[in-house]
Amino acid sequence: MKVLTLLLGGKCYWGSLMRKKPQIDRGLTQRVNLPGVAVLAGQKLDKTTLLKTIDSADRVFSCPVCGSMVYSNGYKHRKFLDVIRPDNLDSEERPVIYTFDYKFRVYQCCNSDCKLVFKTPIDFAGPNRHVTFRLEDDVFQLHVDEASYLYISKLTGLTEKTIGEIIRRRYNDYRTNHNSIPEWLEEAKNEFYRKHNAR
Ligand SMILES: [Zn+2]
Repeated sequence: MKVLTLLLGGKCYWGSLMRKKPQIDRGLTQRVNLPGVAVLAGQKLDKTTLLKTIDSADRVFSCPVCGSMVYSNGYKHRKFLDVIRPDNLDSEERPVIYTFDYKFRVYQCCNSDCKLVFKTPIDFAGPNRHVTFRLEDDVFQLHVDEASYLYISKLTGLTEKTIGEIIRRRYNDYRTNHNSIPEWLEEAKNEFYRKHNAR
């Protein structure tokens, strides 16, 4: 029992101090410009490669529930589809749509009465989603500008089903956050529900 306690104590102690430093591409990280996302070195950005990224958020040392020490209990991965818009809107440059793999930390609380498991919060996409907020913004904007689903799908690589989900969610968000929908949006909304015959 004593050995076990020592071992567990060791994991909590060393796990909270050790930190691996991966090689980061600063230029690409800046270009991607998503909170908490660092791009690993030695990669190129284009729509065919899966860009490897890692959580760059500040390391958490204490449990958000009980305040005890926590240790990093490994990582999780999730893939996201994202868009990078050109820096200069007047240039000939086009937005880049690409997929990145995000490796983020999972923590566990050392307090045996708590044992809370939690992960680095993801601020650039909704829970359990695989499309970043900024790409969702673009999808919605294209829809409001009367682009067809097929066109948005060809442009982004998203399925028409996912596009429909994003648009429906945006309208619902609008309803939740603002009691009324502005006229220009109301028209687009009616068109959307006419096409999809759902409410
Ligand atoms: Zn705790």
